Amino acid sequence: MQSTSTPLASTPSPADNSSAPADSNQRKVYVKTYGCQMNAYDSDRMADALAKDGYARTERPEDADLYLINTCHIREKAAEKVYSELGRLAKQKAKAEPGAKDFLVGITGCVAQAEGQEIFRRAPVVDLVVGPQTYHRLPEIVSEARAGRRVVDTDYAIEDKFAHLPRPDRKIVQARGVTAFLTVQEGCDKFCAFCVVPYTRGSEVSRSVAQIVAEAEALAEAGVRELTLLGQNVNAWHGAGADGRQWGLGELLFRLAEVPGIARLRYMTSHPRDMDDALIAAHRDLSQLMPYLHLPVQSGSDTILKAMNRQHKADDYLHLIDRIRAARPDIALSGDFIVGFPGETDADFEATLRLIENVGYAAAYSFKYSPRPGTPAAEATDLLPEEVKSERLLRLQALVTKQQYAFQQGCVGKTVDLLIEKPGRREGQIVGRSPWLQPTIVDAKAGAIGDIVKVRITASEANSLFAECIQG
Ligand code: SAM
Ligand code: SF4
Repeated sequence: MQSTSTPLASTPSPADNSSAPADSNQRKVYVKTYGCQMNAYDSDRMADALAKDGYARTERPEDADLYLINTCHIREKAAEKVYSELGRLAKQKAKAEPGAKDFLVGITGCVAQAEGQEIFRRAPVVDLVVGPQTYHRLPEIVSEARAGRRVVDTDYAIEDKFAHLPRPDRKIVQARGVTAFLTVQEGCDKFCAFCVVPYTRGSEVSRSVAQIVAEAEALAEAGVRELTLLGQNVNAWHGAGADGRQWGLGELLFRLAEVPGIARLRYMTSHPRDMDDALIAAHRDLSQLMPYLHLPVQSGSDTILKAMNRQHKADDYLHLIDRIRAARPDIALSGDFIVGFPGETDADFEATLRLIENVGYAAAYSFKYSPRPGTPAAEATDLLPEEVKSERLLRLQALVTKQQYAFQQGCVGKTVDLLIEKPGRREGQIVGRSPWLQPTIVDAKAGAIGDIVKVRITASEANSLFAECIQG
């Protein structure tokens, strides 16, 4: 997989900084996270489930009694990385001194769901395999594995996973920082021809308003200021509202904006077909909703969009962008692109470049098409040579990088609100996020972590901005 960097991609995963202090006799779990923000969220919730069973999270793999790899199956390379890591762990286990601490290895996430039992055959070092819908059962599964029984649990659980997950400890939430992910929707019913998500994550499920609001309140109470609502198809979220009406994501965002302490809201990832009027209106009317939207289109060619089963044309997407920009003119847009989908001609690819020129993105993820077992596109025979895919990817990324620089440069001189997130790499500096998600470096005297301060952007670098504090 290759992708251009986006501001969101450079967000440190909560998995990197979420451990609470552990005592030396306590059992420890190390969680390695691959893939998207939803996996980062799941890793935290797995650690929360195990914390209730006495496990402390560690950032040092060598200290772990339990080593979980939370996996991604979206592209072949993402899945293969897991097996090379398992090979390394098998060697490490084989070399362990007699009497050394024995550790269990578990595979969770989408590779677990897709490959199940097969993982034991390919990687005998693995002790447990748990899919994305049953990780609330981890404490029991780990106990069984400790008793010597290898467990595979890839059911689509009948019970609601979220209702069974324990509320995270306040101190652990605080250690994770002032921004948090909150999964509101899982699964997908769109069945794009290239994508494994409908098979690994199952069909679309929306969490209830009450559950989401309770989680948001707990996060805010522990000091979280910014929430990013997550879903494989987040804007397909729907549910019964407090007023008895059926709500969509727009209404949910308005409700979450009422949670005391929550100053900023974001959401990802959206499908163009699910951008309804209420959600567009939220971009116009809800000041807490940040002006950043990740709206994948994948291709600018109608022929390829049809073959991908995207259920929209390039013009539908462009009209949608016009409506969103009319509602929120300063919105930063990002997208996902696949190059080299089977049958993609030069003309199809040029249409994608034209669409990008037309939209003007602040950031984008771009990928070479990777055939995934079980998806309709994997049956295609008109595959493109690797060199063609690579050459197209480079051209597309060059264009997007140019747009990203232009967007960053256009921020210089603007006065913006910055949410301060963490100390900077250099002494005397702190780092916050602009409304458009760019990491922004400012003098540490500007404020404390969690403060929202007014700053003027003074300079732009590849992936970050520099700013000066404006007094008063
Ligand atoms: N739900 C989102 C949407 O509608 O576009 C995307 C979710 S998917 C987890 C993230 C991105 O991975 C997709 O937008 C697509 O660009 C990329 N992707 C998915 N399957 C792929 C494949 N087989 N080969 C290459 N890229 C792929
Ligand atoms: Fe995959 Fe997104 Fe298409 Fe669903 S809408 S199948 S998650 S690319």
